[in-house]
Amino acid sequence: MPVGSQPALSIIVPCYNEEKSLPLLVRTLEPKLNSAFGELGWEMILVNDGSQDGTEACIEAFHQLCPKIWGVSLTRNFGHQPALYTGLTHSRGKICACMDADLQDPPEVLLELVKIVLSGDYDVAYGVRATREAGPLLRGCYRSFYRLMGAISEHPWQMDAGDFCAMNRRTVDMMLSLPERDKFVRGLRSWVGLRQVGVSYTRPRRKLGRSKYNYSRLYRLAMKGVVGFSTAPLRIASFLSLGMGLICVLGAAFLILNRLFPAFTLFGYSIGASQGIATLAVLILLMASAVLASLGIIGEYLAVVLVEVKQRPVSLISRIIHQ
Ligand code: UDP
Ligand code: MG
Repeated sequence: MPVGSQPALSIIVPCYNEEKSLPLLVRTLEPKLNSAFGELGWEMILVNDGSQDGTEACIEAFHQLCPKIWGVSLTRNFGHQPALYTGLTHSRGKICACMDADLQDPPEVLLELVKIVLSGDYDVAYGVRATREAGPLLRGCYRSFYRLMGAISEHPWQMDAGDFCAMNRRTVDMMLSLPERDKFVRGLRSWVGLRQVGVSYTRPRRKLGRSKYNYSRLYRLAMKGVVGFSTAPLRIASFLSLGMGLICVLGAAFLILNRLFPAFTLFGYSIGASQGIATLAVLILLMASAVLASLGIIGEYLAVVLVEVKQRPVSLISRIIHQ
């Protein structure tokens, strides 16, 4: 990590096989950063996430040409979120901005986000993808994910907002202090609270290279968000298990009643269970009720364990008001 005075701005860019995109990114961004923040000082941290192409050589070459651009190479491909998080841990800027390497996060919007945070009115400014240049299926998947998270997340979820953002040092330090190991950066960012504002933009298609996210990787990313920030699915499963367990007990009770009192009917229907079948059905239903009820109870405990293992603080203090 370079030593020297703290720059005003750190830009963190996770890069996985981005040898095609990186030259365009640096060519586009460097002059803009120099003219907007040249006096204040900036650094660009390119996190090479175990690329197999010439990404690392690219980063070295950029660093030779401009020492403000430097890199962190990971030992293998850890994934987008770990790469972004690692970049944040190495950042020194008073403001940190996160963006992708492929120019899908427009540099003009990045400058706007940084300026909002610099003004001091907000701690975080994040990009909101008002429209997205992508196929209808992918757009539908993204839209549904954010709506689902909005419904089940235990804290207010920012609609259509990815990792593209600018944050002040205070926010970054709060995020870095959260002890859980599985990092979902946009979720942690909204979880810390503070003063956050969204800025709408159109997310263009990737200019060069290929997306690293196929549907299976997107699914895993979405699941990271669900499991990390909601216990609702576990609670629904537990409710269903307990409900089904109760239905099984009632079913068994009706069968027993029918065997003891053959004239017993249910809403006018005769159950008419024969001896052997009734015994078997009662046994199966009672066992099923025990298994389902136990699953439900385990689900409830698991929800608490999940919250405990994340070890997030109970709350974060924004300010102490004291004379
Ligand atoms: N990325 C990464 N590690 C990975 C996958 C992606 O560092 O395992 C980086 C990638 O180089 C890019 C950003 O994360 O800068 C977003 O990836 P991509 O553009 O492929 O995703 P999409 O925009 O298609 O969702
Ligand atoms: Mg992209």
